[in-house]
Amino acid sequence: MDKERNVYRAHCLVLAYPAQGHINPMMQFSKRLEHKGVKVTLVITKSISNTMHKEATSIALETISDGYDEGGIAQAESIHAYLERFQRVGSQTLVELIEKVSSSGCPVDCVVYDPFVPWALDVAKKFGLLGAVLFTQSCAVDNIYYHVHKGVLKLPLSETEILLPGSPPLGPQDMPSFIYDFGSYPAYFDTLVGQFSNVDKADCVLVNTFYELEQEVVDRMNKIWPLKTIGPTIPSMFLDKRLEDDKDYGLSIFKPDTDTCMKWLNGHPKGSVVYVSFGSFVDFEVEQMEEIAWGLRMSNRCFLWVVRESEEEKLPKHFVEETSQKGLVVRWCPQLKVLAHEAVGCFVTHCGWNSTLEGLSFGVPMVAVPYWSDQSTNAKYIMDVWKMGLKAPVDEKGIVRREAAEHCIKEIMEGERGKEIKKNSFKWRKLAKEAVDEGGSSDKNIEEFVTTLVDSLS
Ligand code: UDP
Repeated sequence: MDKERNVYRAHCLVLAYPAQGHINPMMQFSKRLEHKGVKVTLVITKSISNTMHKEATSIALETISDGYDEGGIAQAESIHAYLERFQRVGSQTLVELIEKVSSSGCPVDCVVYDPFVPWALDVAKKFGLLGAVLFTQSCAVDNIYYHVHKGVLKLPLSETEILLPGSPPLGPQDMPSFIYDFGSYPAYFDTLVGQFSNVDKADCVLVNTFYELEQEVVDRMNKIWPLKTIGPTIPSMFLDKRLEDDKDYGLSIFKPDTDTCMKWLNGHPKGSVVYVSFGSFVDFEVEQMEEIAWGLRMSNRCFLWVVRESEEEKLPKHFVEETSQKGLVVRWCPQLKVLAHEAVGCFVTHCGWNSTLEGLSFGVPMVAVPYWSDQSTNAKYIMDVWKMGLKAPVDEKGIVRREAAEHCIKEIMEGERGKEIKKNSFKWRKLAKEAVDEGGSSDKNIEEFVTTLVDSLS
């Protein structure tokens, strides 16, 4: 035990909510902590661990139970039932895990947790440990939910222009879907508003963004609790392509088709490929998938499209064969490697926060096709605030038609607006890298977090 103590400055248990978009930033943040001499045990649920593809990583991995070990949320009667049982069973099994880990090696000093599971803070406090919450959505989106939590933003929305401190004027459609479509997913809505239920008691509030990207809203929220921006949670060396052994996440819910993708990309000239991915959850209507497929075809560009197995049947018949000269369709890819590849010139994205931050950090101009949750807010920022992409317009049915998709892709790849967007993309790439590089805003914040943690032990 003492031996391990001497090697590490402290020991953090990092608890991720069981979804790809939550596990990735936790995993990457864990790597940053280890880089700074902190031992990390990353905790995921048994159910998701059973189905994940695990690649070699230095981070120790442990599991707790969400009460649905066989199938996770898919096994639950409802989202509400899942979250309720996860809290009950998760709290208990987290207690058991902390006891086990502490008695078998290095005692745990701090629990870093996702605000989707605020009960983890109560468990940490039971043991007298530090508790640090890591918000995995943008600060702008956190700010919106915070104002709902405080009762300042009244729902259902009645105004056509929403004015919140630290944010530009937002239209109803720019708000997260659980807000503009109030009542659509009450359990998720409650979870997102519930993120703030005990945040005042957390010892540290971390956000996966970087200061330069969201300065105004970070400054605003900093007045409520001291915030530490620690993103993008992509190792700086990776942005630089220097750290050869750290090219991937380490944990993927689907098996990435790495060799096929990289070989294919290697055969394409700089900036010539449109990369298309809608993340791990998006469940488009068949009509929408068909329109995207046609839009890609009509753009006449080479494309790499991630179509998850569950979505494959939504593609137009013979699409894969008929477009094989121009396109590659895979079930999952190593997204960081793909975005870092110089052949990629445009990212058609659903605007999940990780994808948004990754695209921005690698300086890849985006075509925004948001689906739900925070994606419409991220899309608004991509187009109007950070000016590094175009939001694809939708028709009266809410569908991005083929002509719109084609137009946005062409505009980014070769249009006048594309030139300006590319300029901005270089700027954001540079700022993101500076933020995570040694001495940058995010790096300093992580260092400060570790120092506070270590000081609390003496
Ligand atoms: N991702 C990946 N391979 C893919 C598609 C996505 O590794 O083929 C990763 C991506 O890099 C990101 C995460 O999956 O980190 C998706 O998170 P995001 O917040 O963008 O969307 P979500 O899946 O939560 O909707």
